[in-house]
Amino acid sequence: MTNPVSIPPPAIQHWLIRLRDDLAQRKRDHLWRELSPVDGPAGTEVHIGGKTYLQFCTNNYLGLASDPEVIDAARTALERWGVGSAASRLVAGSMRSHHDLETDLAEFKHAEAALVFSSGYAANMAVLTTLAASQDILLSDKLNHASLVDAAHASGAECRTFPHRNYQRLTSLLDHYTSGNVNVNRSAHHGGAVNPVSDALPSHRQFWIVTDTVFSMDGDLTDMAALARVARQYEALLMSDEAHATGVLGPDGRGVAALYDVDNDVAVSVGTLSKALGTVGGFVTGPRPVIEVLLNRSRQFIYTTALPAACTAASRAALRISRREPWRRQRVLMLAQHVRQELSSLGYQTGASESPIIPVILGSARQALEASACLREHNIFIPAIRPPAVPPNTARLRISLMATHTDSQIDHLLSTMKILANQLIPFS
Ligand SMILES: *Cc1c(COP(=O)(O)O)cnc(C)c1O
Repeated sequence: MTNPVSIPPPAIQHWLIRLRDDLAQRKRDHLWRELSPVDGPAGTEVHIGGKTYLQFCTNNYLGLASDPEVIDAARTALERWGVGSAASRLVAGSMRSHHDLETDLAEFKHAEAALVFSSGYAANMAVLTTLAASQDILLSDKLNHASLVDAAHASGAECRTFPHRNYQRLTSLLDHYTSGNVNVNRSAHHGGAVNPVSDALPSHRQFWIVTDTVFSMDGDLTDMAALARVARQYEALLMSDEAHATGVLGPDGRGVAALYDVDNDVAVSVGTLSKALGTVGGFVTGPRPVIEVLLNRSRQFIYTTALPAACTAASRAALRISRREPWRRQRVLMLAQHVRQELSSLGYQTGASESPIIPVILGSARQALEASACLREHNIFIPAIRPPAVPPNTARLRISLMATHTDSQIDHLLSTMKILANQLIPFS
């Protein structure tokens, strides 16, 4: 038996000292993070530490995470297929429910085929690490989600960013590469990224334009029509991440590419089931060969256990409801417009949001923490969003709305934000 109070070897002790130093520095910088256990479902109210707060910070835009019909679908599937799927999709974990969900998703997105992943994060990693080759050039919006940033780097391709929604600069970057004075064989220039799978794909130097369609910390939209034009002009492949748009924006909640009527210009589209649809999992839609390559090659698909069938069945139900009940997305967008208007008349900076995500940009991490604490005192739960989740000096409250918020809940939010406005002077 090991003695439970035995002293670890020096290497471990020294390492722990370094970790504690790092944590202490984070605290001094107001960047310390900790978890708050939530007791109950993700609704318009949240129960934390024995208290009930109004909640304005989830991605459960349509209120489906605890919808009785979705819960029922999960319960039925649980009884039919059990809890765990017990294997990866390609071994024995591909339950009928996964296939049905993929059929539904392809039809929903007007795509040839769909493939479900354990998370949106995994789906983004899969797309770029499997489909982009090391000689390719990925051009990404500077504010893309961390999963796209990680995926771009992990792909081994050359990664460049353009300033947020600045398609002029994107065009200049493309001009730079196509002007003829850039070495065509760039694979030697970015040293050592190991990507045996994509290296095995036929070599052709491909441009990719990679973008969120709704930016997760700002709620603003990509001009997909502009990107589609650029992609056509430079023969680039357009990859879109519709995580926050799925179920909320565009005809039938199909996303921002559909909103701009450029579905056909998107080479590969990622969505997530974990935001407006209220469940869990990511998905990719696109032409059949894209989906088949992912199924055959993507490590994020192959080397992980399939989602439980209760999750995929719940996702099917959530997708069905989101399409059957357009009032949900209409209401959440209407509420967002109202809240944005009221907040800007209180003097808040809410950026260029056009979605249920409304940033209230405060500046320093400390200001954001104080604002969040003040809201808590008024029974409103909105955590501070600080760097590195957002750029330095743009720490903020990220307000997100749900279709199921009542008018009086919205009124309480706005009256509290008015009190906060008086306490927070001066802004910026
Ligand atoms: C949340 C999010 C993801 C990751 O999706 P998960 O299903 O939560 O892993 C990917 N992209 C964007 C833009 C997101 O906001």
